[in-house]
Amino acid sequence: MEGRLTGNDAAPGAAGRTTEESTTSRARPARVPVTLRKSCGCAWLKCAPANLVPADARENTLHPLVCSFMVREPASLVWLFDIDGTLLLTKGAGREAISLALRERFGVDDDLRTIPFAGRTDTLILGDILERHGVELSSGEREEFWQQTAAHMRRLMDPPRGALLPGVTEMLEAVASEPTWARALLTGNVTPMAHLKLDSFGILGHFAWGTFGEEGPDRDSLARLAVSRAADRHGVTPERCVVVGDTEWDIACARAAGARCVAVATGGCTRAELEAHGADLVVDTLTDRERVLEWVRAGVPAR
Ligand SMILES: [Mg+2]
Repeated sequence: MEGRLTGNDAAPGAAGRTTEESTTSRARPARVPVTLRKSCGCAWLKCAPANLVPADARENTLHPLVCSFMVREPASLVWLFDIDGTLLLTKGAGREAISLALRERFGVDDDLRTIPFAGRTDTLILGDILERHGVELSSGEREEFWQQTAAHMRRLMDPPRGALLPGVTEMLEAVASEPTWARALLTGNVTPMAHLKLDSFGILGHFAWGTFGEEGPDRDSLARLAVSRAADRHGVTPERCVVVGDTEWDIACARAAGARCVAVATGGCTRAELEAHGADLVVDTLTDRERVLEWVRAGVPAR
C-alpha cells in the first residue's frame, strides 16, 4: 500500500520525535485527514498516515508525496466516465456561466451559442472564445477566469438545473458493488466545473480520482493521462480501462489511449452516429446496464 515511499523520506513532521515515538509511528502511524482541492488525478483523499503527510498538505493543498502515496489500490478494471451528456445534463448552465464570466471580466457580450461544446475540453472551448474576441490570457489568468466561471456556475446550479441521465445512479451503484473495479472521471471539464456539476446531483463521491480539462490540450491527451494514472494507481493495462462517453470524441480518445469504449446516446450524438464512429458498445441509455456490465466482463483480458 505504501509503495516506494518510506516514512523517513516523506515525513518532515517526524522530526524531533523520540526514538520510541518514531518506532511506534513506523509500526502503526496515525491517520490524518487530507483534502485535495486541485486536480492531479488524486482528488478526494480522506486520510493518510500522519508520518507521510507534510503539515502543509493537510488542508486544501496539493502535495506530490501525498499524491504518490495514495495511489496503490490494485484493481481489475478502471471505469473512466465522461460527465456532460453521459452522466448528466445541465441545460446550458456551463455555457451560460462562461458567458457571464466573459462579460464580467472583459465586458464582452456573447451567448457562445455558435461555439461547439459537445465532447470538447474546456481548454479548447476557452481557446476558441479568446481567439474570437482577440483576448490573450496567461495560465494564471485562465485559472482565475475558471474560478469566476465556477462562481457563476455555483449560483446557476442552486437549485440544480438539468438532471442526472436515465440509469446513471443504478449504473454507478452497480459498478461500485464490484470491489475490484475502480471508478474515475475522464472529462473535458476543468476541475471546479466538474465538481460543481457532480456535487449538484449528489454523485461526486462515486469517483476516486479524475483527469480534468485543464490537464491537457485535448481529449486524446487527457485519455492517455487517465490511462497512465490507472496503470500507476491500480496496476491495470489500457485494455482494462473502459471509457464511458456520449460523443465521437470519447470514442476517439479511448482509441488513442488503447482503452475500450462504451458510448451512450444520451448526449451529443445519435446511436447511429456513435456506431459509425466505431464505439465498442453502444447503448441508448445507461438503463441498459446489464448489457454494459455483461459486455465489460466478457471483454476483460486475462492477466
Ligand atoms: Mg460528453
